[in-house]
Amino acid sequence: MALKFYNTLTGKKEIFKPFKNKKVNFFVCGPTVYDFSHIGHARTYIAFDALVKYLKKIGYSVFYLQNITDIDDKIIERAKQEKVSFKDLSKRFEKEYLKDMKDLRVDSVDQYARAADYIKEIISQVERLLEKGFAYQISDGIYYDIKKFKDYGKLSKRTAQEAEDAVSRIDEAKEKRNKGDFCLWKISKPNEPKWKSPFGEGRPGWHIEDTAITEKYFGPQYDIHGGANELIFPHHEAEIAQMEAVSGKKPLVKYWTHTGLLTVNGIKMSKSLKNFISISEFLKNHSSRILRLFILKSHYRSPIDYNEKAIKQTEKELERIDEFVEKIRHPERSEGSRIKRPAAGFFGRSLPSSEVKGPQNDIAKKIILKTKKYYQSAMADDFNTPKALAAIFDLVKKGNKLIEQNKLSAKQAQEIYNLMLKFDKVLGILPIKKKLVIPQEIKKLVQKREKARQVKDWARADQIRQQIKKKGYKTEDTLRGPKIKKAK
Ligand SMILES: [Zn+2]
Repeated sequence: MALKFYNTLTGKKEIFKPFKNKKVNFFVCGPTVYDFSHIGHARTYIAFDALVKYLKKIGYSVFYLQNITDIDDKIIERAKQEKVSFKDLSKRFEKEYLKDMKDLRVDSVDQYARAADYIKEIISQVERLLEKGFAYQISDGIYYDIKKFKDYGKLSKRTAQEAEDAVSRIDEAKEKRNKGDFCLWKISKPNEPKWKSPFGEGRPGWHIEDTAITEKYFGPQYDIHGGANELIFPHHEAEIAQMEAVSGKKPLVKYWTHTGLLTVNGIKMSKSLKNFISISEFLKNHSSRILRLFILKSHYRSPIDYNEKAIKQTEKELERIDEFVEKIRHPERSEGSRIKRPAAGFFGRSLPSSEVKGPQNDIAKKIILKTKKYYQSAMADDFNTPKALAAIFDLVKKGNKLIEQNKLSAKQAQEIYNLMLKFDKVLGILPIKKKLVIPQEIKKLVQKREKARQVKDWARADQIRQQIKKKGYKTEDTLRGPKIKKAK
């Protein structure tokens, strides 16, 4: 099934075809590390994490690169307020960011690149833009002349700032040639961080760090650039202007992809309203799985409104999934569930497979096939996670019904569970199984007990079970043989 992908540059869904066969170079704008990351950031990074995992799952080899802005006006300002060095401040919030991402199971980034580590590459790009006449120097730095680049505005379909632009970072300077010219290199003021350059001691502008970093890793062209919607202008517009002017090659990026806005109770998050919800704050009261499900329930391009009611609803949905997974994972445990199992004895390995024969088998098979088909076609259609999740919810509903009617065999339960696990490699909403390290001594006791059970020496088997219990473990007899667990 061909993957269709929406491209902000063309405003259309297109068949996804990377520059080189199955190889995908993927870049996403990372955080400016001057504060805690909020759930708006989580939205973007969870969506792209799932997208990368999906692309890998369907056979692409993806290199996921993300920058970290560790030198910026906001960082300098906050460091001054807190009377710490800009480095200490950015390091602190970089650590917080990486921890948040780990907690959210965002683990698909192959390379993080800190701006301050790429000063040489940044200077080289600024030099080339000066040589080619796209940039000019004034007293406070080097600026890009947007009038020199005729394609300026091709991504956002505009060339001027608008009142609602949240992240502009077009530096104001009286000597600028055009109002929309943006800064490439800032001459540092006293007590500001600085690096030596041919144009004077200074520091990079914000937009140039991305193209310097992507040129270093990917060259002048690459496959996908992602970011939040609000970065389209001027940030991504500036990136195109910088790199396409330097290299003479276009497009810089084949597919531009943007995530929709996340509001809180219908209102945009802002410093002045103090309605920011940081990721760590959210995770104090909820599991990360709830945030992932909440975010993936919406299409990545749609706006999302965060509110208590919506989170409560998501909690309920996740509970439903968890209960179902528990039933299909442990048919032997759930009292109420009536998953088909052999009528007599323990449901041990020695017993024949408990396949349900006949039309009932067909029902389960059909449901599994249908879910797969729905999931795959939803994901291939511009990564439609809400539709894919709807297919999973439908599977849960139908699976529960089969269990109720005593029509699901243990083997089919296992098949459904495997399917859920497969989906979850992309979605990341099921609980992570913690790997338990079982001591050799316990394993040996369990083996002994199995032998006793095989010769029907129940007294001996029970005695060994007590021994295992004393050592803090317990063993459960499952369809797949004995399962060792830590006794609570
Ligand atoms: Zn960026």
